Amino acid sequence: MYRTHTCNDLRLSDVGKTVTLAGWVAASRDLGGLTFIDLRDRYGITQLVFDMDDDPELCSRARRLGREYVVQATGIVRERINKNPSRDTGDIEIQVTDFSVLSPAKTPPFTIVDDTDGGDELRMKYRYLDLRRPCIQRNLLFRSRLSLEVRKYLAEQGFAEIETPFLIKSTPEGARDFVVPSRMNRGQFYALPQSPQTFKQILMVAGFDRYFQIVRCFRDEDLRADRQPEFTQIDCEMAFVHQEDILQTFEGLVRHLFHVMLDIDLGPFPRMSYDEAMRRYGSDKPDLRFGMEFCDLTAHARGKGFSVFDQAESVLAICAPGCASYSRKQIDELTEWVRRPQIGAKGLVYVRYEADESVKSSVDKFYSPADLKGWLQVCRAHPGDLLLILAGETEKTRKQLSELRLEMGSRLGLRPPHQFKPLWVLDFPLLEWDEEAGRFFAVHHPFTSPKAADIPKMDSVDPAVLKSIRADAYDLVINGVEIGGGSIRIHDRELQSRNFQLLGLTREEAEAQFGFLLSAFEFGAPPHGGIAFGFDRLCAVMNGANSIRDFIAFPKNNQGRDVMIDAPDFLKPQQLEELGIATVDKQG
Ligand code: ASP
Repeated sequence: MYRTHTCNDLRLSDVGKTVTLAGWVAASRDLGGLTFIDLRDRYGITQLVFDMDDDPELCSRARRLGREYVVQATGIVRERINKNPSRDTGDIEIQVTDFSVLSPAKTPPFTIVDDTDGGDELRMKYRYLDLRRPCIQRNLLFRSRLSLEVRKYLAEQGFAEIETPFLIKSTPEGARDFVVPSRMNRGQFYALPQSPQTFKQILMVAGFDRYFQIVRCFRDEDLRADRQPEFTQIDCEMAFVHQEDILQTFEGLVRHLFHVMLDIDLGPFPRMSYDEAMRRYGSDKPDLRFGMEFCDLTAHARGKGFSVFDQAESVLAICAPGCASYSRKQIDELTEWVRRPQIGAKGLVYVRYEADESVKSSVDKFYSPADLKGWLQVCRAHPGDLLLILAGETEKTRKQLSELRLEMGSRLGLRPPHQFKPLWVLDFPLLEWDEEAGRFFAVHHPFTSPKAADIPKMDSVDPAVLKSIRADAYDLVINGVEIGGGSIRIHDRELQSRNFQLLGLTREEAEAQFGFLLSAFEFGAPPHGGIAFGFDRLCAVMNGANSIRDFIAFPKNNQGRDVMIDAPDFLKPQQLEELGIATVDKQG
């Protein structure tokens, strides 16, 4: 037996027992006659002690143990004199009678502690060492437990977990595909799935009724902190359901997960239409941990000779509570902040509602104190508050102000990471116009059903009418992060064809790409719908973390590289030859 206990098992009640532990040397301290070693494994840390007086030979061997050596030690559990209350095993230590080195270790390039000195790249290169850090271990163990809970809950609700293939052909869902050349079919390529969307719909046609899968998806997109080229979804689909059934079922799942994992009751999730979310927060994924809702000053701000506001489609404000005391410098800094290319606002107008109820603004030249008081009233401002105002084209201004709102929320400490505010956003538009491509794209995906009442609008040729079509599509948002999204699907061949047409696909193209789905719809397709949750994101949000990387065992870096295994990499000319792909010049 390698070990009788883990490094987190032993307590005062074990004093006197002879035990054997195995683990990594986390730290060692040499105090003259005594040598202490912290032995770490996945479960915790136990202190080993070697006494020069008891066994000088053993003690001097122990002094030579380096960090991260793998050691097996046998000894007697005894009560510690200096207890360590921050450690589960902090009341005891092991008086070692014998030990052996199972594996030596080079000095690690960074310290293996939560608060490590290792930079990102270094930690990614030595990911196996990074993964030894207790905080990352906690994250991955959380993830493991979370996936078990998802499976348990959905299985109890009658869902069957069914795997779908990774080698498929392109499903257009807004991102680029990763492709895999086929050796046996020279010149042809598989695509890795961006999601199992069409397969899960086919499973509904096949009669499986309630499907789920915790599944890897692949999207060749530019990377950000919350994006990875491969990521995991909890992918779900149900037949014979309305939108309401789906919302109820998966609200149940998410509430259950928060309850069992975090002991938090989220309560019933509020709901908001897409239009309302855009109007009140300028975002389809508003963070509801704080207020600072948008106030529309357009009508109030026009006609006083301030051309910026006169010409603007929208003049929108947020009211930052208690910020009237912001200095000129602070406001200038905020102005610079909204002017950065990432935000792209032209300028920022402010109105200070001083504690003595006087009003000061950057547009005093154009507006009387009474005008400004009117604005303050619209915004329900209190003395001491600061209005921050952006103006311009509605869509852009909303986006910019939404960023500013989040920034102010963060600066004011109104976004505590361990407080959770869920929200269903409903009634997304079916289509969005892409200026560059000069055509409509599906907001969710091409299989999403328009609302029954809006189906007649699909025959219109007026872009404004088409834009106004609502879909039975919904997102689950928590703390401003899109955790999941889905829709009721089209299950009628003709309607699906019409939708493809609106998306600019000819009959032939639709047939070539999705013939299998269209023809499945001719053999008795049940009404169906579903949702997919971003599993990595859910892990991160539940832990109050921003980056999904810390919840993925082997993530890619910002360039999409795995720096540990050094992928992607060039292929040998023979391999390329075999695959029927022209040799790529390494220089080129
Ligand atoms: N396949 C969709 C996605 O990946 C989710 C869904 O509609 O169920 O976003």
